[in-house]
Amino acid sequence: MKITDVKTWLMQAGARPDLTRAMGADADFRGSRNWLFVEIETDEGITGIGECSGWPRVVETAVSDLAHVLIGADPAHIDRLWGQCYRAILGHGLTGTVGSGALSGIEMALWDIKGKVLGAPVWQLLGGAIRERIPVYGHAHTPEEAKALTDLGYTAIKTPFTGIVDLDRVARLRDAIGPDVDLAVDAHGPSWMTAQDAILIGRELEAFDLLFYEDPVPPENLDMLARVRGEVAVPLAAGERVGTAHGCRDYIERDLVDVIQPDTGRAGGITQMRKIAAMAETHGIMLAPHSGSLGPVAEFAALHVMATVPNALLLERIEFDWPGRYEVVAPVLKVENGCLPIPTAPGLGVDLVRDEIAKYPSVRNVAAPPPDDGRAYAPGTASEAVHVQTRRARARSLRRPAHDSLPRSGNSE
Ligand SMILES: [Mg+2]
Repeated sequence: MKITDVKTWLMQAGARPDLTRAMGADADFRGSRNWLFVEIETDEGITGIGECSGWPRVVETAVSDLAHVLIGADPAHIDRLWGQCYRAILGHGLTGTVGSGALSGIEMALWDIKGKVLGAPVWQLLGGAIRERIPVYGHAHTPEEAKALTDLGYTAIKTPFTGIVDLDRVARLRDAIGPDVDLAVDAHGPSWMTAQDAILIGRELEAFDLLFYEDPVPPENLDMLARVRGEVAVPLAAGERVGTAHGCRDYIERDLVDVIQPDTGRAGGITQMRKIAAMAETHGIMLAPHSGSLGPVAEFAALHVMATVPNALLLERIEFDWPGRYEVVAPVLKVENGCLPIPTAPGLGVDLVRDEIAKYPSVRNVAAPPPDDGRAYAPGTASEAVHVQTRRARARSLRRPAHDSLPRSGNSE
């Protein structure tokens, strides 16, 4: 068998179709993102698909640049081809998320081909399933959103913040879901957060019995995370922004986290995910793949990995996503009792609905800046939460007494 072509499918996910059609420069794409799918064709009519993240519009070019390494090769030799692609780009510098994003989608597609050739789901080829159902967690900002998830059987909720954690909101969510549903907080590692502020916030979070406190500080300097680690008695999670096992190594070897969160679309592929999981296992660290901006193909890939590693914790899932998510692939995954079943069809077990993808051409792939209201650093403005203003926003969060009635844990007193 030989690879005959490498195609990409880039789409704007989450944008309103009427705005996408208009393609106007002024269209508001806030909250939308790009999904990039890879399709590898062979001379025997078997096609594999994968998904890349890590700046999809740029990764698309990286995939097309790597196509000549793959075309003519036997797709059976996954690790050999991965190594050839990896070495083909080393002259461009360290493999960041663009390079590892391209490698991820390509490698996933090669596994999909192998599974289809052998008539087995990928998890079967990785040693078989340790578990047939993978627990998921959903996103909730309000008690109402949390209830919608627990009504579906979700047993874990994560609430996202833009840097400063609103402790009142955490308290309301914990009160709403009760003690038996897991609660996590994602601070998104803002570039302006100081380690000291993250520590002060983290100590307050000790009261809420969190599953984890995610990305309390920016990921560029792991010594900052080490400071938080030493001062806060809350499980920490991080790792979504790095690529390959090399990117996750310091988090794991320095025991900086309790939960490692490689993004399935930019971790470098299924085998890299398993290497990360194996490293983490030797440190008692759990695997919870990041999936917040990913499309549905990477979700399938994550399920295959999580079925086969002992330290899989749970998978992130955007339960109430843009409706197009459920139109661009088949079959569609459905949560039952807080879990997703592992796929059973050969390969990854999912296919692209190409006509649907084509309806949403990519227009934009970077976040729009917040509106400039001309009041730099003024309280309540978007620019307040930058560098020197962190203290003010943090102080406002910590001043609120609503959670004081909750039992405190750990050594924060
Ligand atoms: Mg996150």
